[in-house]
Amino acid sequence: MKTDLRRIFNISGAKQEFEYEIPMSELERLKGYDFAGPVMVSGLFYNRADVVHMDYSVRFTLNIVCDRCLKELQGEYTYDFEHIVVSSVNKDNDDFIIADNYRVDVNEIALSDLLLELPTKLLCMDECKGLCSKCGCDLNESECDCQK
Ligand SMILES: [Zn+2]
Ligand SMILES: [Zn+2]
Repeated sequence: MKTDLRRIFNISGAKQEFEYEIPMSELERLKGYDFAGPVMVSGLFYNRADVVHMDYSVRFTLNIVCDRCLKELQGEYTYDFEHIVVSSVNKDNDDFIIADNYRVDVNEIALSDLLLELPTKLLCMDECKGLCSKCGCDLNESECDCQK
């Protein structure tokens, strides 16, 4: 789905909020991640001093298996992204999003941002202590004598 930004490009100070949902079927591209539902994308396009910005955040829930303790659970994630949108390709810079004919595909942008940002190791919590390498007990829940 494309969003038309002609008005934003033409009017200094203009703003446009947006909210999209990336359906499960499109999330298959993010291989190795088990999404519990669609990804919610919401944000704002705005023109400040004739520069068009895109600030947005994504929200989603993943079914994860903790990389350290192997616990299965659902984790909620939020990421924020900021871009500058340009209307032509005369600047050869990957940092910019190019609005071809003043249109951008928000879901496409969000998917490629997520692809770069999603962690390769998912943990149940940052401080997860993991499993004892000797007896296999969950060190978050109990202490074993193996280390002593
Ligand atoms: Zn864990
Ligand atoms: Zn142990």
